[in-house]
Amino acid sequence: MVIRDFDEFCRDITDIYESTLPNGEGQVASYIPQLARVNPDQFAVSLCTVDGQRLSLGDSKVDFSVQSTCKPINYSLALQLHGEHIVHRHVGREPSGRGFNELTLNHDGRPHNPMINAGAIMCCSLLKREGEVNVADRFDLVMDTWRRLGGGTRVKFNNSVYLSERTTADRNFALGYFMREKQAFPTSTDLLETLEFYFQCCSIEVHAEQMAAVAATLANGGICPISGERVFETKTVQHCLSLMYSCGMYDYSGEFAFTIGLPAKSGVAGALMIVVPNVMGICTWSPRLDKLGNSVRGIEFCRRLVATFNFHYDTL
Ligand code: GLN
Repeated sequence: MVIRDFDEFCRDITDIYESTLPNGEGQVASYIPQLARVNPDQFAVSLCTVDGQRLSLGDSKVDFSVQSTCKPINYSLALQLHGEHIVHRHVGREPSGRGFNELTLNHDGRPHNPMINAGAIMCCSLLKREGEVNVADRFDLVMDTWRRLGGGTRVKFNNSVYLSERTTADRNFALGYFMREKQAFPTSTDLLETLEFYFQCCSIEVHAEQMAAVAATLANGGICPISGERVFETKTVQHCLSLMYSCGMYDYSGEFAFTIGLPAKSGVAGALMIVVPNVMGICTWSPRLDKLGNSVRGIEFCRRLVATFNFHYDTL
């Protein structure tokens, strides 16, 4: 057993959950009504160890849109399809030091990394093989990957979130055109179709229990601890975790790596997907965000977590 006394561990996590719960700071995302309307008081913590022990607290069965937490999944899928060399011809692997949706590219006219919007749009353009035209199959591949990573439970799609994302997407369109002008996309990329596909990926819905299993699959080198199925190659997961570690928390990534020391990815709906390599996956979900776009309670939970357990990478 990776956690020897799981009952005691659960008590400690419950204490951390309860100490974090009163924190009512931050604001829910308001750029689309579907996110602005969410009950801001909700708070879920769920975890799944690499040997399949689970704990879920609070609103862990309430669905939320994955938003930016789709980025590490799509990056991993692009790696699986094309390998590191082709993928990184189109997208860099340096932290940008800039906002997640800033209109900026690196010196080669490529997105800085796959964890910011430009890089995520680029990964979406890579989720097809030469000559493949069917967008529905690409979406099925992404949905099916989330399902397998999460241990086989059905994931959902929120069409209103998608429609809203699409109508408030000027910045993402600007990023798309900027990259097209720099000839950054693979040849034969249909830009509009790629952007729509990105919005659809952001609008996939899971609950915290499912996302914890997804994180646990990453913690377990690509093999889902629930189903035992290998979903991603070990190398893919290694690359993905490196970039989650250095770039996963928007403009707070360096600080998060320094203080928390774990690969993680946040999304604007309030999710945090946290990986404790070789130990467990954790999901926190709480919709109120800080100024940098990270869930306030999610960050506080992580701070308390590493203060209680030796989870910071250099103490593992
Ligand atoms: N749909 C959002 C966007 O692309 C996702 C951003 C996020 O979660 N940070 O702008």
